Amino acid sequence: MTEPDFLGDLEKCELCEHRCGVNRLSGETGVCRVTMPTVASATLHPAPPESYTVFMAGCNYKCLNCQNWTISQYPDNGFRQRGYENPKELAEECLDSLNSLSAKLMGADRIFFSGGEPTIHLPYIEEVVGEARKINPGTKVNFDTNGYLTDESLKRVLVLTTSITYDLKAYNDEVHLALTGASSKPVLRNAEYIGRYAKEKLWEIRILVIPGINEDEIKPLTEFVAHIDPFLPVCFLVFRPNFVLENHPGASRSLMDKCVETARHSGLKNAYWSGNTDIPGIIGDRKSEIKGKYVSEHARLAGSYALYAGCQTHPRSCSACISNQTCRIKKYIPEIVA
Ligand code: SF4
Ligand code: SF4
Repeated sequence: MTEPDFLGDLEKCELCEHRCGVNRLSGETGVCRVTMPTVASATLHPAPPESYTVFMAGCNYKCLNCQNWTISQYPDNGFRQRGYENPKELAEECLDSLNSLSAKLMGADRIFFSGGEPTIHLPYIEEVVGEARKINPGTKVNFDTNGYLTDESLKRVLVLTTSITYDLKAYNDEVHLALTGASSKPVLRNAEYIGRYAKEKLWEIRILVIPGINEDEIKPLTEFVAHIDPFLPVCFLVFRPNFVLENHPGASRSLMDKCVETARHSGLKNAYWSGNTDIPGIIGDRKSEIKGKYVSEHARLAGSYALYAGCQTHPRSCSACISNQTCRIKKYIPEIVA
């Protein structure tokens, strides 16, 4: 197949801050391991903002807690995805669905790109949105991101979108690296840019609360957001056991209440939480195996889970990892599924 012109960025891919520089069109792969843009699935989705959600396959992170791991760790864990879709046909599918009675009853009013991480497919998403706006110039778009974009990609996303849902996972770089494999620095930089210069586009900042791993991150994260603007909306999401953390306990109601209280102390005026609390589990006890590789106790716990699941480089850093093309985390199948 001849690759479409709009995919030129993939010839030297620097869409995200891993800045791999690989030629994805010729089959080279970077940290995300994705070559051509790939749709995982698409459906009407009732979670605010209500939408027709397009889940894109693949991610530039390898989060231990990923709830969409069958999609995000594409192409290495063998789960089937829809595949490459003609952008015009996908745009028509999205608009047809948004015009349906079900969408009207739900209140779905936009195309919502999620994943995985949509940034790694940005030129394709721009093309789909362009096609949708040729049909309906008022088409609304949400971009759901982990924030690990380059400056250049962020500016393109801001041109494209009506709304952004934005994940923060940790303030401390070591904890962020241990949990996701990537640094928190670009994520914080981009959050600050959106909060200062495009806050009208920010639907909400989302912070997944994982007991024993990022609960001490809530204070610095909420102080960071409040310093940008105390009225920015922050939603704390309840961790529920998933992927490598499949046996880790879910967040408790008291922990979620405490997060909101901490946010208010930090000066935030619009903080709340959502999700089902108190799913039982056991905190893993393998920290001694990884002693000396991490300074923070919480990063050490995350790192020890990663080690157990096959991560070979500690402290974790997927950009610098010599095993990032044979990463075992990307092939990890939770026991509950295996
Ligand atoms: S990880 Fe980021 S920079 Fe690297 S190939 Fe994937 S999208 Fe491109
Ligand atoms: S093995 Fe390497 S690429 Fe895989 S999660 Fe660990 S640091 Fe990242």
